[in-house]
Amino acid sequence: MAHRRPDRTLGPGHDEFWAWCDKQELRLPKCQACGKLAWPVTPRCQQCDASKFVWVQLSGRGSIVSWGTFVQDYYRGQMATPYDTILVELEEGVLFISNPDGFGEQDISPGMEVSVRFIDCEDSAGPFRLPVFCRSS
Ligand SMILES: [Zn+2]
Repeated sequence: MAHRRPDRTLGPGHDEFWAWCDKQELRLPKCQACGKLAWPVTPRCQQCDASKFVWVQLSGRGSIVSWGTFVQDYYRGQMATPYDTILVELEEGVLFISNPDGFGEQDISPGMEVSVRFIDCEDSAGPFRLPVFCRSS
């Protein structure tokens, strides 16, 4: 059963991200001019101002930099509280905000290694696959 989630951001760039997630591939836009990953999605590279990107597949591995538990119902019942959020530094060097899968804040230590997986979710735009992170084995 799909997890109900708050609405995603959709539109140019974001749609490509979610389409890759639907294929269970974690891909981010890479600037064709300077080679930097452009994340979060942006219409122009923040390093060199170019506007052409190619979507490169990442390893899906990273380590936890920070984390927190949300107890306030910011999404008006669209997401059960409390829930944990993690900040992952991906192997490729970008920071990625996500949720832990199969572990909680009591299990987390700085630098803990994690791997991406995709879970079936749904928002008002329909079903989608959300990248979350489980402990690396
Ligand atoms: Zn660039």
